[in-house]
Amino acid sequence: MNDKSEQELGTGVGARPAPVRYRTNPITSNPNSSAGEVALVGAGPGDPELLTLKAWRLITSAEIVLYDRLVSPEILALIPDSAEKIHVGKQRANHTLPQDQINQRLVDLAKQGFRVVRLKGGDPFIFGRGGEEIETLAGAGVRFQVVPGITAASGCAAYAGIPLTHRDHAQSVRFVTGHLKNNTCDLPWKDYVQTNHTLVFYMGLVGLPIICEQLIKHGMAPDMPIALISKGTTREQQVVTGNLETIVQRVHEEAVQAPTLVIVGQVVALRDRLDWVGGLPIF
Ligand code: SAH
Repeated sequence: MNDKSEQELGTGVGARPAPVRYRTNPITSNPNSSAGEVALVGAGPGDPELLTLKAWRLITSAEIVLYDRLVSPEILALIPDSAEKIHVGKQRANHTLPQDQINQRLVDLAKQGFRVVRLKGGDPFIFGRGGEEIETLAGAGVRFQVVPGITAASGCAAYAGIPLTHRDHAQSVRFVTGHLKNNTCDLPWKDYVQTNHTLVFYMGLVGLPIICEQLIKHGMAPDMPIALISKGTTREQQVVTGNLETIVQRVHEEAVQAPTLVIVGQVVALRDRLDWVGGLPIF
């Protein structure tokens, strides 16, 4: 943050030092708008202590909050009673409000002069459709900022004892959507089958049998370790491990609940080697 970006936003006050806490985000739109503003805020994967300080400040001072299904009840409880809370979805194939209507709602509320918080699970820019929302906001001349959150991959991996990269086992990690269109996963499977690589599938529960089948078909070892983390970082977190051949049955036996994240790679085996016992908050 520097005075220049403050002035670019049109909020600098003479020679006084900029109020650094408030305008630190470089991704901010129209400086000339005098109306309200929208903060796209990442709420992290569940544990409220994984909120950033910035997210916490914006949530606790919001006037209107539009939130997704994935935002945990503990985090929703931080919203002031005086604020209006609007649930905008979304469950698989059951969008409470279609995306274009959410985009428009954000614009309308900001133009009415409100400080709007658009609260999203995880990080707004990782499978969060934040890109679409800011495009609409920018197009409508609405001021906005984006506050990153801890994405499910980071949160779940940390709380499940699975390092996503490791000097000996994974030099890269890839975040992939496992969301199926018309029951098929039209993904570049061949690219995914690499040594020393970790794959993380978001929205992969329904497609899990196809994901395992395609990875094996494209050359991945059938005994490649895989973990499915359900409700990661919450008190109900559940971790199911197996390999590409066994995981579907294991998940079936455990009757896990969404949201779930799938991690594929040798790093998953480290969890057992570490004799990981928990990972939920210990103090
Ligand atoms: N923007 C979010 C992702 C939204 S897509 C982020 O950065 O985390 C929704 C998917 O995220 C879910 O289907 C699931 O795969 C994953 N997810 C989100 N929260 C999760 C949690 N607490 N535990 C496991 N998976 C989670």
